[in-house]
Amino acid sequence: MGDELRYDGRVAIVTGAGNGLGRAHALLLGARGASVVVNDLGGDVHGGGKSSAAADQVVAEIKAAGGNAVANYDSVEDGGSIVQTALDHFGGVDIVINNAGILRDSSFAKMSADDWDLIYRVHVLGAFRVTHAAWPHMRNKGYGRIVMTTSAAGIYGNFGQTNYSMAKMGLIGMANTLAIEGASKNIRVNTIAPLAGSRISETVMPPQMLEALKPEYVAPLAAYLSHESCEESGSLFEVGAGFHAKLRWERTVGHHFQGKSFGPEDVAEKWAEIGDFNDATYPKSIGESLMSILQGVASPFGQG
Ligand code: NAD
Repeated sequence: MGDELRYDGRVAIVTGAGNGLGRAHALLLGARGASVVVNDLGGDVHGGGKSSAAADQVVAEIKAAGGNAVANYDSVEDGGSIVQTALDHFGGVDIVINNAGILRDSSFAKMSADDWDLIYRVHVLGAFRVTHAAWPHMRNKGYGRIVMTTSAAGIYGNFGQTNYSMAKMGLIGMANTLAIEGASKNIRVNTIAPLAGSRISETVMPPQMLEALKPEYVAPLAAYLSHESCEESGSLFEVGAGFHAKLRWERTVGHHFQGKSFGPEDVAEKWAEIGDFNDATYPKSIGESLMSILQGVASPFGQG
């Protein structure tokens, strides 16, 4: 085991920290010396209701263990006031773990615009508002660690979760660009796709599986990505039950018609080649992506 990673002097905001994963993140950071803003609206799993009890309970647990924490009961849609709580109580913000989340599952055919909009507002707009309010403070300080929480449902899709998949994939895109924009200011931004037993997952998982998937098995990765020694940025990880793995894009060598006239039947003819992952590449940036698309374009179009 390496030396214990500490967060003394760091201020962390963990959204949705009254239950499940956020609670585990907050307890771990609090136990390792961070001053923690425990944000939680205290609503139900579908976004209804409001209570201070969940956040208060986690603040009490952190304090009972000798840590430093304060509660905030605002919705992440009101991100500015969550960041203000960090500034008022602890004088800054170094770490943001965007974790708050709800579900409004329904097949696409039955999905209402309200179900779509609420999921967007809590997951995407909420992460935007909290991160956007913290961003200038991180830039001024030249330091920041941000973690987004996506889901396998966003990465791979899942029946009944078009709204949630849209939101969770949106967070990956947000993190990818924030990692680029934050690079020069020592702001590192990564995304985790957790699997853990919680109010959210107990609706879709059997009890014995939930037992093996403790939120405490996800918190160490979120905490490591939030540590000053971690230079990782713009990356995506799957984590749960002790399993940790990194994901990346893979692209086939493909086929380039390079300006020759072509129609749908030519695409059909090259279909196997277009989908052949032998000798695949792993583009890491928009520049690497463009290089393949533009090959041959630099020379006179059609000659390439
Ligand atoms: P959870 O329901 O136990 O905890 C989520 C917390 O977020 C709750 O305490 C809730 O009150 C809070 N919250 C909801 N809306 C909020 C808002 N508008 N403002 C502030 N707080 C709000 O669920 P969890 O499983 O711990 O989920 C945490 C995150 O992980 C979510 O973003 C979820 O989508 C994601 N996730 C979880 C799993 C899993 O297996 N548990 C899998 C993939 C992704």
